[in-house]
Formats: sequence, C-alpha cells, structure tokens
Amino acid sequence: MGMKDLFKTILVKPGAKCRLSEYDPEDISLCSGKEAARDEMAKDIKRLAELQEVLYAEDKRSVLIILQAMDGGGKDGTIKHVMSGLNPQGCEVTSFKVPSAEESDHDFLWRIHKAVPRRGNIGIFNRSHYEDVLVVRVHNLVPTEVWKERYDQINRFEKLLSEMSVVILKFFLHISKEEQKKRLQERLKDETKNWKFSELDLKERELWDDYQQAYEEALSKCSTQWAPWYVIPANHKWYRNWLLARTVVDTLESLKLSFPVARTDLSKIHIK
Ligand code: ADP
Repeated sequence: MGMKDLFKTILVKPGAKCRLSEYDPEDISLCSGKEAARDEMAKDIKRLAELQEVLYAEDKRSVLIILQAMDGGGKDGTIKHVMSGLNPQGCEVTSFKVPSAEESDHDFLWRIHKAVPRRGNIGIFNRSHYEDVLVVRVHNLVPTEVWKERYDQINRFEKLLSEMSVVILKFFLHISKEEQKKRLQERLKDETKNWKFSELDLKERELWDDYQQAYEEALSKCSTQWAPWYVIPANHKWYRNWLLARTVVDTLESLKLSFPVARTDLSKIHIK
C-alpha cells in the first residue's frame, strides 16, 4: 500500500462522521511486521531530526502535534519514543492539566495559544484544548450551550494558527477498553509504574462510553483540511509509534522545507 493510502485509512475525513467502532485498536495491518517497523522507525527518527533542523533554519513555520487519548492510551510513551531524536532546543512539550485559577479566569484557548510553538519550532501538546469538549463535557463542567459552541471556536482558532504558518497534526491514540484494563493493572503490579496509578482513573473508566462518544464528536467536527485528526490504533505500542512517526515525517516532507540561501555573496568573504 502506498503512503497516500496509508494515511487515508487513519485520517478522519473532514466533514465526515467518525465512528470509532470502525477503527480496530488492535490493527497492525499497515505495517509488514514488528521487525520492519523497528528499522523504519529508526530511519524516521533520524529523518525527523534532519527535518527539524531545516524547519529551524528556515524559520518560517512551526509544527504543532496534538496528542489525545483515554487514560493509559500511551501519550507519554509516544512522546518518549517518537521524539527521541529531536534537538531539545527546537522542541517543547506542554502537558495540559486541570486549569489553574488564572487559566480558568480566561477563555479556554488562552493557555493553549500561549503554548503554541514559535516559528521554527516543534511543539507537542500532551492533552490540549480538546479537553474542553471531552472531560468538560463528560463531567458537565460547563453548561451544554457553552461546550457545544466550542467545536466551531476550535476550528476557527486552528484556522487562524494555520494561516499564521502553524502546521497542525492531531492524533487520537485509540486503545480498547480491555487494553486499558491491562495497562491499569500493570500500574498496580509493577512497582516502577505504581506512581502512575490513580484511583481517579478508575472513576473515569466507568465513563468509557461517554468519553468515546465525546471523542467521536470532537473528531467528526474538528477534523479539517488545515488541522486533520488521525486515529492511531494503539493497542500495540510498536505499531502506534511506527505509524505516528511515519505520519509526522511524511507531513514534514510534504512541506518541502529548505535551508535559506545566503543573502550576501559568501564567496567574497575571507576570514582572516
Ligand atoms: P496525564 O493523565 O495526562 O498524564 P494527569 O494525570 O495530571 O496527566 O491528568 C491531567 C488531568 O487534567 C486529566 O484528568 C484531564 O482530564 C485534566 N484536564 C486537562 N485539561 C482540562 C480542562 N480544560 N478542564 C478540566 N480538566 C482538564
């Protein structure tokens, strides 16, 4: 399968209804196997570092990668693996938690806008403004009329960013409810993972269906030409990392980034 077809299968088509039941979290069909994934992933991580350097040198655009997932979906692991080759100087990860008092006194996009990567940089959002139509909706943290308006507000905000040369990629790491159970159990059993366990996650797990529904609506309404959503089957970590890296590298390649040409005739310069 060619790369174009590969991305078509994980892209949420702008304007189309996204049904998560149509995406199998177990899927590994786009890759020829674990071995091949490892080799390709190593290449992509190297390539990503090269592309980042040109992005930085070019200093015209920035790249924003948004990661969303259910608890245990693997946002942290994805960042750790896929971004392992990046130059920390041109890259920033922002994790969005429950809004602070100051943040809640502003509009919901205020803290997000401030964290958008500057020109030449790559920014990764671990959670994002989508929490404002996910957790906020599921827990009724604001009235329905308020969160209902947000899809449109998000689209307009992301459109503005894209017009300002921010390239946006959004990934939903899709795990099954069974897989979440396995991962939460692992946090209980493995002493090195105990710190990740929170009883709150079990409360959220009870709301699984509500969350899936909220995700479906966010993905349906906010996958746009200028800021597409991708659904990454994420039960298998190697596959999740491989596919996400492939998508990021392919998108950056399509930008046709180039090193700036010298503004003066360098052949005339002599260093004494
Ligand atoms: P993570 O699970 O991402 O590793 P935490 O365990 O600190 O990190 O979880 C962050 C919490 O902040 C999540 O429960 C998430 O739902 C919550 N959160 C993030 N953004 C918002 C928001 N805008 N409104 C309410 N809660 C939010």
